Amino acid sequence: MNVSDSFKDPELCKKLLEQLHNELDAPLRFMEVCGTHTVAIFQSGLRPLLPKEIVHLSGPGCPVCVTHESEVAAFLDLAGKDGVILATFGDLMRVPGPKGRNLKLAKAEGARIEIVYSPLDALKLAQDNPNDTVVFLGVGFETTAPTIAASIQMAKQQNITNFKVLSFHKLVPPALKVLLEDPECAVDAFLLPGHVSTILGIEPYQFVAERYNTPGVITGFDPVDILESLLIMVEQRKKGKASIVNQYKRAVSDSGNAKAREIMFSVFDIAEAQWRGVGTIPESGLIIKNEYEEFDALKALDITLTEVPQTPGCKCGEVLKGKMQPNDCPLFAKACTPAKPVGPCMVSTEGSCAAYFKYQVTA
Ligand code: SF4
Repeated sequence: MNVSDSFKDPELCKKLLEQLHNELDAPLRFMEVCGTHTVAIFQSGLRPLLPKEIVHLSGPGCPVCVTHESEVAAFLDLAGKDGVILATFGDLMRVPGPKGRNLKLAKAEGARIEIVYSPLDALKLAQDNPNDTVVFLGVGFETTAPTIAASIQMAKQQNITNFKVLSFHKLVPPALKVLLEDPECAVDAFLLPGHVSTILGIEPYQFVAERYNTPGVITGFDPVDILESLLIMVEQRKKGKASIVNQYKRAVSDSGNAKAREIMFSVFDIAEAQWRGVGTIPESGLIIKNEYEEFDALKALDITLTEVPQTPGCKCGEVLKGKMQPNDCPLFAKACTPAKPVGPCMVSTEGSCAAYFKYQVTA
């Protein structure tokens, strides 16, 4: 059995599950910060096998889901501008903005929008279209920000001045702090995101354990990873201890990726950011440094974010804070489905509402 298969080993899963059932003696409200964990728990078939005392809370770790309505409005405004080509990852295309409009609709109406797989594709688009301004929609967490920073550095080195980035990147640890400060969230432990942690390592989460006495486990995406992590949480809660543990050592170094962080912080400064359904969080976003301002779409195209009301009826904010289960939203699987999403949590493959719909409604 190779290393990768060993994390899916059914015999080991059976043993860990048994152990979990034996060890768990009180309800455990744990948050799946990252939507990929929510999907992994459903996909592996683990969910119905877990002890009933385990309460799954969704978290704010789906980048598309936390993109604020006013940020989507800015994308849509740009989509109508002459001489502008938008370059975006595909999962933003169907995210509803004001009045239910989205980029897919804007493209159908003639806006120039290209789906790219990397910011380097957007840079190439800029080189190929020297008479247009190519704006890359920078959405995502610490995982994607370093690559986008590198593309800005390349644009500067190669003097590709018609390449711009609209940076609405967000940082995960400040959002955890907001949840920990909110008594209604009542999170017992965090399943910390595997991908973001490849960049961050353990240190940026230490405050979770030290200041809030809450365990956190950086976790991989296979069933053995998840079961081991739940056991670590249960053990810590039983002992009344809290620490940050790196269960995903095969992918995440305790110190993270220093080089990626260096690139990221050589291009971006930390600033406040607006999170959909959560509000403004201090020091939770990334803006482009003055040194690279010619590549900053906000400045170059004079974009200001406008007040946009929350999508009526959508409970994404409650879902993203773990205060509501997706299937408790009155619109879930009725007015809101993956084919006709009302909120972003039903759009993205990492969105909790989309995961619950796929595995609970259509499974
Ligand atoms: Fe929003 Fe739809 Fe999820 Fe309800 S089911 S919270 S409307 S995305």
